Amino acid sequence: MTLTGRNLIAGAWREGESHFTAHDAASGAQLAPVFAEGSANDVAAACAAAAAAQGAYAALPLAERAAFLRLMAAKIDALGDTLTQRAMLESGLPEARLNGERGRTVGQLRLFAEEVENGGWQGLRIDHAQPGRAPLPKPDLRLRNVPLGPVAVFGASNFPLAFSVAGGDTASALAAGCCVVVKGHPAHPGTSELVAGAILEAIREAGLPEGVFSLVNGTANALGEALVKDPRITAVGFTGSRAGGLALMGHAAARPVPIPVYAEMSSVNPVVLMPARLEEAAEALASAYVGSLSLGAGQFCTNPGILLAVESAATRRFIAAVGEALPAVPAQTMLTAGIQSAYTKGIEAIAAHGATLVGAGAEGSSTCGRAQVFTVSGADFRANPALGHEVFGPSSIIVTCADLAEVAAILEGMEGQLTATLHMAPADYDAARGLLPILENRAGRIIANAWPTGVEVTHAMVHGGPFPATSDGRSTSVGTLAIARFLRPVSYQDLPAALLPKALLDGPSPVLRRVDGQYEA
Ligand code: NAP
Repeated sequence: MTLTGRNLIAGAWREGESHFTAHDAASGAQLAPVFAEGSANDVAAACAAAAAAQGAYAALPLAERAAFLRLMAAKIDALGDTLTQRAMLESGLPEARLNGERGRTVGQLRLFAEEVENGGWQGLRIDHAQPGRAPLPKPDLRLRNVPLGPVAVFGASNFPLAFSVAGGDTASALAAGCCVVVKGHPAHPGTSELVAGAILEAIREAGLPEGVFSLVNGTANALGEALVKDPRITAVGFTGSRAGGLALMGHAAARPVPIPVYAEMSSVNPVVLMPARLEEAAEALASAYVGSLSLGAGQFCTNPGILLAVESAATRRFIAAVGEALPAVPAQTMLTAGIQSAYTKGIEAIAAHGATLVGAGAEGSSTCGRAQVFTVSGADFRANPALGHEVFGPSSIIVTCADLAEVAAILEGMEGQLTATLHMAPADYDAARGLLPILENRAGRIIANAWPTGVEVTHAMVHGGPFPATSDGRSTSVGTLAIARFLRPVSYQDLPAALLPKALLDGPSPVLRRVDGQYEA
């Protein structure tokens, strides 16, 4: 499959006036071909086509929308090794990880297809009229959720498949009935083009308007800014840096018509090792911790960046075991030169704030990230708020606290998090019960006796959390609940049956509805 290096604007592969290149993440070498820098005209054309296609796409019978998502999955599957090999070059991620990520990408498209067919996300409600109610008659009210309209999606660097062109944000927006314009991440434009080509095939085979999906690539902030500011865009999905997310939130809020930005940004994912559990398993916990923090060169938003434990002999055993395990961790290629350099600076900042190095992994080339773990007392951690900032890469800080009250105080002082984890034995449950309200207040997902780096794509998953984990802690970007971000409720008052949406007519319903307050199918 030959890459064109062009942007996909509503079915047309468009050349650009200037170009950029992708790089081999491991060697830094330039990769062919050159890629067209998307322009303001490309953005405007993509958004106009999305707006023109929106009505027809939103009105598709749900079975056809679901079939389109399954077709997308099949076309991406059919790219097979070509896709994996290009993604390996551009991201430096290993083959097994990318094959797994491809499986997750098509799996989540198929899960959203099932979700579309299930129909529960429409939130159907019927309150029948009571014409004889005194002192005033009650009108007939019927409610359903409708798609917001065209959605802008920013591909993430750290998930070139599962959170990029056909990733979670795109899948949930399309499932909600929204057309999508993707701003591809400049680190993997070839991967993006391959996936966009697969989506275009699916659009054509399904007979959909080609404006349902467009991909604009580019390296200038102005491109993403133009996309967020385009009046036809109604919402934004983003995964990346806090600075990037905040900039996009600012653009969205400053529009004449402000729109929601669902930005997933930064999280240090605190892990608490409760005393009884630590006493019984210090060495096993150390080995699993090192594995989790170095997985994928630590380039996960759920990386365990801060670990909290009460100072004790068991804690010292744990720290010693971490120090012993680290040298065996190989240096791993990082996603981009920029991310590698930000990681190096982040590590220097941790050391500059007085944290002590526990140990380090093997040293690698200049494109690699070296695993490093630090330790600091609870008092010093509280005195240096900068130690609580995310360092994106294979590092973590072990905070040794005077007692569980200090653990609680540190958790209470933390910013919003994607996850919070408790490792505990039954003897810890009473103390853990006291921490739960703090964790609920701070995190989107509370984990027991596991590590935060795995994120299942299911119905009950929350991959979200209070700011700055995300821009809007009321939502999730992973799992079927993600569809809710791109919907809004509409209520129909006294509409004649001839004009009502079919799903809101009286009579048996294939979908669970709330009728006069009661749930019924
Ligand atoms: P990024 O710099 O936030 O970029 C992500 C996307 O947003 C890119 O397409 C980028 O396009 C765009 N963008 C960024 N700032 C923008 C702005 N001011 N206006 C318009 N568009 C903007 O993220 P990254 O390149 O993936 O990595 C950089 C850092 O982000 C990492 O070192 C890490 O700290 C953090 N990160 C965090 C997570 C996480 O899950 N927590 C994931 C990935 C990255 P441009 O080409 O225009 O910059």
